[in-house]
Amino acid sequence: MAARRVAVVGAGLAGLAAGLDLHDAGCEVTLYERSRLLGGRATSFVAGGHEVDNGQHVFLGCCTEFIDFVERVGMGTHLHLQERFEAVVISRSGVISRLRAGRLPAPLHMIASFAGYRHLGWNSKMRVARALAGAASAQRSSSSFGDWLAQRGQDEQALRAFWRPFFVPALNAPLDRMSAADAGFVMSTAFLANAGAARFGYSTVPLAHIAAAAAARLDFVRLETPVTGLALSARGDRALALELDGGERPQFDAVVLALPPPQLAQLLGDPARAGLSALDQYDSLPIVDVHLWHDRGSLGFDFAALLDSPIQWIFEKAPGYLCASMSAAEEYVGKPSRELIDLCWSEARALLPGLLDASLEDGAATRTPAATFMARAGTTRPGARTALDNVVVAGSWTNTGWPDTMESAVISGRSAAAAIVTQGESSVA
Ligand SMILES: Cc1cc2nc3c(=O)[nH]c(=O)nc-3n(C[C@H](O)[C@H](O)[C@H](O)COP(=O)(O)OP(=O)(O)OC[C@H]3O[C@@H](n4cnc5c(N)ncnc54)[C@H](O)[C@@H]3O)c2cc1C
Repeated sequence: MAARRVAVVGAGLAGLAAGLDLHDAGCEVTLYERSRLLGGRATSFVAGGHEVDNGQHVFLGCCTEFIDFVERVGMGTHLHLQERFEAVVISRSGVISRLRAGRLPAPLHMIASFAGYRHLGWNSKMRVARALAGAASAQRSSSSFGDWLAQRGQDEQALRAFWRPFFVPALNAPLDRMSAADAGFVMSTAFLANAGAARFGYSTVPLAHIAAAAAARLDFVRLETPVTGLALSARGDRALALELDGGERPQFDAVVLALPPPQLAQLLGDPARAGLSALDQYDSLPIVDVHLWHDRGSLGFDFAALLDSPIQWIFEKAPGYLCASMSAAEEYVGKPSRELIDLCWSEARALLPGLLDASLEDGAATRTPAATFMARAGTTRPGARTALDNVVVAGSWTNTGWPDTMESAVISGRSAAAAIVTQGESSVA
């Protein structure tokens, strides 16, 4: 029997993960991507002679599907994952303190280091601990996380030194715009589930290299090829045709649409025909990253959270190369590159020991206005299947149980592939 021909539209992690599983299940996979780059929102490119990620991407020890995906495409040795959770937190007044997992099982693993955490007084520590113990109730709540924290008496010190630095970057939203349910998921999955769950990890190679390794496993890859529509044909031996610029109409047995909500709505034209009428119920939030090359070599840390700064986290990517990350960056995403570089360089010098007399050699800013998508309250995120036969959706915004992350993207891609494989099996039977 001829292999089923499947088109995957979108070369982000969701599309790549779907393509990989479909290929392994014996399908002939063609990947369509409108950009010249692979990886979607987790990509890299050359800026000013440096190969940079579009933004610093971190995964946690609990992101097992993402880690498996990278290992499957042969890039596992390029992932760095902490042996134990450890985060350095630096304040503008020069206080440096660490949170570090100890040897006790979760949730006791953080107790000793939390007790010594210098950015919180005892009252605030007790408040944070009590709120963390209520993670399950946050997951069931319909409030915003900001309201949920206020109901639990979290003072400004707790917000400044714990909730904002860890939860704003995790969910890429201000505390009062993220849902308590999503934040509760992060508390339970990362902080309380097991002692290894919150370990930080990152790629040691530019992100597009991981995407390229995945794409190399597929049958055909068409870059710079936007798909403009999907035609359902009543006749012919192939049920579905993609519409491409220039009039090309390739036909397929099944299609994975691995696109964010706005692009998916545009491609479908009438999303309701696919049972996806709520695609306009997602808000996008921006992330800005500023890349700084300086003359001081290694500063001797992997990454640190900065308190009282527009930079939430700063990463030492290589000796002399820092990447400053600003999540929920609505205030900054429209600013010119020069202004962002000057701002982040002056912040880095003010907060990082060792940079006081350093000189900036080069800088670049990467801005992603729609870095993540968040469903509005009351919106049900869809699963992979649509109302159209052999048309499935994937994407970090779909109903994976995870917020919009690389982990969610990979889970969604795998679910989409599984839906196509099972539909094929049932039509053969
Ligand atoms: C700066 C930044 C920092 C981030 N940091 C983190 C982090 O630290 N940790 C984390 O887990 N996540 C992070 N994320 C989120 C993470 O990148 C996304 O959740 C994930 O990559 C989304 O993957 P996806 O495949 O669902 O969608 P996308 O990556 O958006 O892929 C969709 C693809 O479809 C293509 N496309 C769109 N329309 C068409 C069309 N008509 N035809 C053909 N192709 C089309 C797009 O070009 C794109 O390549 C970050 C995102 C950004 C932008």
